[in-house]
Amino acid sequence: MPSPRSIQLLSDDVINKIAAGEVVDRPASVLKELVENSIDAGSRNIAIALVDGGRKLISVSDDGCGMTRDDALLCIERHATSKLRSADDLERVATLGFRGEALAAIAAVSRFTIATRPADANDATEITISGGKILEVRETGAPPGTTMAARNLFFNVPARRRFLRSDQTELAHLRQVFLLHALAHPALGFRLVVDEREIYRLTPGASLEDRLRELLGSPVVRALRAVDATHEGVRVRGFASLPHTTRGDRSEQYVFVNSRPATAPVVGFAIAEAYQSLLPRGRHPLAVLFLEMDPSLVDVNVHPTKKEVRFRHPPAIRDAIIGGIRKALAIAPAHGSQMPSGLPKMKDLFVPAGRPATVSRSSDLPGLPAFPYPRVQPGGGPPAQNTNAGVPAAPQQQIENSGRDDSESHRSPWLWCRVLGQVGGTFVILETEDGMVLMDPQAAHERVIFERYLGEAARGAIHSQGLLAPESVSLPPEQARVIRKFLAAIQEMGFGIGEFGGDSFVIDALPACLGNKISAAQLLSDLAGQIEKGTPRGSSASWIREQVAQAACHAAVRARDALKPGEIEALVRDLARCEMPYTCPHGRPTVIFMGFQELKKKFGRA
Ligand code: ADP
Ligand code: MG
Repeated sequence: MPSPRSIQLLSDDVINKIAAGEVVDRPASVLKELVENSIDAGSRNIAIALVDGGRKLISVSDDGCGMTRDDALLCIERHATSKLRSADDLERVATLGFRGEALAAIAAVSRFTIATRPADANDATEITISGGKILEVRETGAPPGTTMAARNLFFNVPARRRFLRSDQTELAHLRQVFLLHALAHPALGFRLVVDEREIYRLTPGASLEDRLRELLGSPVVRALRAVDATHEGVRVRGFASLPHTTRGDRSEQYVFVNSRPATAPVVGFAIAEAYQSLLPRGRHPLAVLFLEMDPSLVDVNVHPTKKEVRFRHPPAIRDAIIGGIRKALAIAPAHGSQMPSGLPKMKDLFVPAGRPATVSRSSDLPGLPAFPYPRVQPGGGPPAQNTNAGVPAAPQQQIENSGRDDSESHRSPWLWCRVLGQVGGTFVILETEDGMVLMDPQAAHERVIFERYLGEAARGAIHSQGLLAPESVSLPPEQARVIRKFLAAIQEMGFGIGEFGGDSFVIDALPACLGNKISAAQLLSDLAGQIEKGTPRGSSASWIREQVAQAACHAAVRARDALKPGEIEALVRDLARCEMPYTCPHGRPTVIFMGFQELKKKFGRA
């Protein structure tokens, strides 16, 4: 047993080192604190320099309000802050920092320098600190603003230093911090220099879309749709990716709450839910979402690094996010400013002269009719047909009687397209105004029937077609049990099905939209298997309808013959009119886009 020792208050030096562990655990957290201070200081431009993954140097310069000599000396004390006066202020924190611990912590575990000058002062103050001890304070010349630099991070905390990862890994974290703040503040200019190489120079006064383009590149931005919706006092704005552009993890989901980078479990769940049935398992959308609400509805004081927030009414947040994203995806390409600037005018769209001459029209290709999609037609009615001799006129719209109004045609993923052919006997190649599109006809067809079928179900107007010979089906006991349980729902979905004693059923009619090639026995067993695997607790009527439709469409498409040329065109047209043309009901992509930009890049022409 260690002998009892008398109790003593810890020295500031030790306290700061302990506290430092909470606030500063790696270079990225130093960068975050320094950048946030610069933003709080009202800066317009922020320049960042990193050396050796931040180990050797993390420097942040700004043109913000600067500090007087007295303030500069005070700011490295613990709990020294200009941003909070009383506990009441905590209720309405508007600045990024407020705890007044960051600088004390960083200064305690690095060789730290501050050079700062308020705009109305003639001289700057320079302070040099090492391991929390002030070594030197002097006057110097410097432009208005503040530069803070942390060198040799954790030089006096070997245990922490050993926990640092490779430069590469630390840089990835640093980059993430940079991205978050650059996205959160498009109005500010940012410069990032890594190991003396300039990586980003972002001009101030940008729109969010410009900023995204600078940071993520045009092809990614073109796959994003603008989100803007308000629900119960929660505004959600930003961008979310179309289902065909996904990532293997959530690292490209950037969320801000009242302009501060934030996480909360409800946000991640809501994003995932918004894409439910649109994405394959394990894929995640890109999203840049700004949530705005009354500051009293969110608690930012949960975690020392302040990233995790707590909402007073999580369901409102959830509904706002799901509603906002769903709406954005449904009106897919309406976002006018995303159109490439060189886009031909409407009247030129179908005239080959306006297209690159490199599109070959050799005679071994079948006719290449352009399919107009009246998405941006001002006056309605189909656009001018392709009049080029030798090229057959585009077939007329084939679903004119579907009762859809003009606004719904805005969902088409392209303005116009033409079928160039098929590869591998399967995949269809299209040309559109934006580039090339590969379509999987099976997935596309599944999506088309799925929406048609669910649409009929929603209107209570499913057509059933009697089978020539009724089929009887015997199922394993577990599967028979689920079919019995949901028998009424399955009948409502257009199945003429009844119990046939034991674990057998008899089917004498099927929904007409599934075609007449389908095997009723196979379908019923697929359906039972699917329901058996995935019945969630409290599954709703709409859930069971979707299961029936998914299984049915899958079976219908498998039973189909290969497409004939005329059918390809009809399918392309039908797909373009779907609510969600980008994925099949199981979340597999129906189309893969390859934009002209991307093609140019691949050929080294960018
Ligand atoms: P907090 O940001 O929580 O207030 P910090 O330790 O990060 O605590 O900063 C302490 C104080 O130092 C801030 O409240 C602010 O007054 C001042 N300060 C820090 N960085 C800057 C800067 N770049 N420009 C002007 N003032 C700054
Ligand atoms: Mg701070």
